[in-house]
Amino acid sequence: MPQNVLIIEDSLSSMKMMRDLLIKAKLNPICAQNLTEAKYVFSSSSPESFLCAIVDYDLPDAPRGQAIDFTLRSFLPTIVVARHLDDDIREVILKKDIIDYITKENEQVYEYLSRLLSRLEKNKKVGVLVVDALRSRRTAMVSLLRRHNFITFESADAEQALATMQKFSIIKLLIVDDEGLPRVSGIELLSLLRREYKKEDLAFIGMTLLKKPGLSARYIKSGANDFLLKPYCHEEFFSRVMQHVEYMENIELIRRAADSDFLTGLPNRRYFFEKVETHQKHKPQRQALAILDIDHFKAINDTYGHDCGDYSLKEIAKLVAFHFADFTAARFGGEEFCVYFANQDPSHAHQALEQFRTALATKVFKFEKNTFHCTVSIGLTHQTKDGISGMIRLADKHLYLAKNNGRNQIATDC
Ligand code: GH3
Ligand code: MG
Ligand code: MG
Repeated sequence: MPQNVLIIEDSLSSMKMMRDLLIKAKLNPICAQNLTEAKYVFSSSSPESFLCAIVDYDLPDAPRGQAIDFTLRSFLPTIVVARHLDDDIREVILKKDIIDYITKENEQVYEYLSRLLSRLEKNKKVGVLVVDALRSRRTAMVSLLRRHNFITFESADAEQALATMQKFSIIKLLIVDDEGLPRVSGIELLSLLRREYKKEDLAFIGMTLLKKPGLSARYIKSGANDFLLKPYCHEEFFSRVMQHVEYMENIELIRRAADSDFLTGLPNRRYFFEKVETHQKHKPQRQALAILDIDHFKAINDTYGHDCGDYSLKEIAKLVAFHFADFTAARFGGEEFCVYFANQDPSHAHQALEQFRTALATKVFKFEKNTFHCTVSIGLTHQTKDGISGMIRLADKHLYLAKNNGRNQIATDC
């Protein structure tokens, strides 16, 4: 169900830009041209169904931001848009508990708005831990973060912070005010955390007093992602938080791309080796490895075309992902797939592979006007000497036997 966004805007062109942008972001715009209309449309919907409101500062029946007060009173996270913002109005707006404001200067601001909206959605899955000895300062930061939909956690000291980190893996960002922290300092907490978490997995923002300029440099040198000077302004606070959360998400995207096969989306060979080697460090009880090679795949390309070959590989990959969801499976290259089984009964691996083999053999492939079938030959080994490369060599040897024996079958050493 797409979430609603209330837009209160009297300029039709600006309204249209925002509507299009929301629809593109898979959100549901609910539009009102003035405050009276907004009150009416809002009263007939459930407040919970709204992600936020985008409100024009200057409306015919609310010329000085009164619509902002209405949306805030209705507990709607609010983004303000304005044609011009002089310093006085900006001050007034920033005193209100809004998410952010944008000025309708050029089309780029709509891009910023779109980024802000997608953040509001994504932030619902991002945990932020605020570490500060003083409750009032903690509460102020937490309320700022909640406005942006973050899941918030609080700790009054470093020990509590470490315990909270252990408990909630959703925490991706720590904001730590060193001033008055008892026993363990902010820098010490940072160095303890950096033993376990890399900069790109957990962001750390240290807060420092303007009076202590050396501390900010110590934070950065000790592995902090950033620091914030106190007293801070809300805009800077959010800009920095947003920047670091986006940085971590981008790293995650790059990692995922580096680990996946482009055509099928399955994990690739690189990921497979890394994962299996990590598994093997834990000395699994039993291990098995299988290589799956599609039979006469070249003939599919030659008969129906390369696009059909690609389509078939994608369909086969879906079946691989489904059948081996509990194991480590990858596209090994070309029309070959590889599956690793750890801590399984030897017959279990064979059974799972046999189920896959028959499911593929009975699947009907349809591409354009053509209908055809695919089969797979499988080499399976349970011998674990010589690590992963030894297992691959053996599985390959069995695969060769399965091919020579007539294909569409499993050959194994147990
Ligand atoms: P066998 O039963 O002996 O395994 O025969 P085969 O035809 O499957 O084996 P062969 O190694 O001769 O050919 C594999 C074919 O897979 C050749 C290659 O063009 C095709 N192939 C590999 N990767 C892709 C791909 O990404 N897309 C398409 N369409 N074809 C691919
Ligand atoms: Mg092959
Ligand atoms: Mg083949």
